Amino acid sequence: MSKKIVILGAGYGGLLSALSARKHLSASEAQITVINKYDSHQIITELHRLAAGNVSEKAVALPLSKLFKGKAIDVKIGSVQAVDPAGKKVSLADGSSYDYDTLVLALGSETNYFGIPGLQENSLTLKSAAEANRIFAHVKGKLRAYRVSKNKADATFVIGGGGLTGVELVGELADELPGYCREAGVDFNDVSLYLVEAMPTILPMFSPELIQRAVTSLEQRGVQFLTSLPITEVNGGVVTLKDGRTIETGTLVWTGGVQGHALVANCGIEVNRGRASVNEYLQSVSHPDVFLAGDCAVVFGPEGRPYPPTAQLAWQMGELVGANIAATYNGGSLQTFHPVFSGTLASLGRKDGIGSIGEHGIELKGAPASLMKKASNARYLSHIEGLFALAY
Ligand code: NAD
Repeated sequence: MSKKIVILGAGYGGLLSALSARKHLSASEAQITVINKYDSHQIITELHRLAAGNVSEKAVALPLSKLFKGKAIDVKIGSVQAVDPAGKKVSLADGSSYDYDTLVLALGSETNYFGIPGLQENSLTLKSAAEANRIFAHVKGKLRAYRVSKNKADATFVIGGGGLTGVELVGELADELPGYCREAGVDFNDVSLYLVEAMPTILPMFSPELIQRAVTSLEQRGVQFLTSLPITEVNGGVVTLKDGRTIETGTLVWTGGVQGHALVANCGIEVNRGRASVNEYLQSVSHPDVFLAGDCAVVFGPEGRPYPPTAQLAWQMGELVGANIAATYNGGSLQTFHPVFSGTLASLGRKDGIGSIGEHGIELKGAPASLMKKASNARYLSHIEGLFALAY
């Protein structure tokens, strides 16, 4: 009898799980349903470009109806409300429910506000195409407002958190703000663009030379860094830093960190600090009929340290999950997860970037890093196209 596979999430982990499962299982062997809150697969590693108006939405939000066309993969657009691994059932906010033989949890991560007072209520975030559009509209709106108000807060933009998300966003804004200022009739010299980071440096995953390279490149384009200064409170438009100083701003984008998805953390499967614990086959250690792909699971490396939740990891997990689900149905042997790291690339605007690539961490800066980042995006898109061709 045909098995029911339900996949929650259509990000990197969910999309790749669905395509990989379909590659290994025919429509008569398994019914595959993907449930996602948006009607698109979003290339979240490119959202900073959308937020600064550098790419169109269709470049970063690929319609699921198109992606799954002819693949016998059902798509349900809806918001998951509850996951019941004991009853093997998923319930949605619209009252519908889905039972399953195998569940894939690929819901990604959520913004972590670390309990900082006023932060959630008074900040924007960059986790979806809709949020990127909101940042873009907001920034342009504030510049128009400043032309009339001459209120410094309207021309002050603060990014909270100097990890990859915050730095890539600030790089893009640094490139685009001068043009948007001209459009709005505002002098760019009136604009303040801050990146606030709690730790002594931004981007701690890179070497000191590359970090300095990033800082210099961004400072030359007007970014002001405030490091070793955690945001401790936000009150309306007033951002307070640890040393007591305050910044008045009409725009705070919070990129200060992520945490496991609450639905996964609270559904009753075994978790480790909010992220699902998995075995080497990417099954939940407490519920083997639940597989995990992407940020909502924690995968430990050989040294016992968790791997950072990245797109490349989610993508590879999804591929293995699809194959391992097929193996559980066909009596094949399950494969062990061995992630391959191609490195880390950070874009610093349209034409600049830094990167550390390959096993030996070869360092790149400037145009080669920027091109490599574009190539890695193109490689991902062609990879999913290849999987479409292979799927039953
Ligand atoms: P992150 O956790 O990597 O970085 C958040 C930063 O915010 C940290 O540097 C932290 O010190 C800082 N911070 C925390 N609290 C703060 C406070 N109160 N005030 C000021 N700063 C504060 O988060 P991220 O950048 O969103 O990245 C999340 C994951 O996604 C990471 O694993 C990252 O590798 C991945 N990612 C990868 C790429 C890429 O490969 N190009 C791009 C974006 C994200």
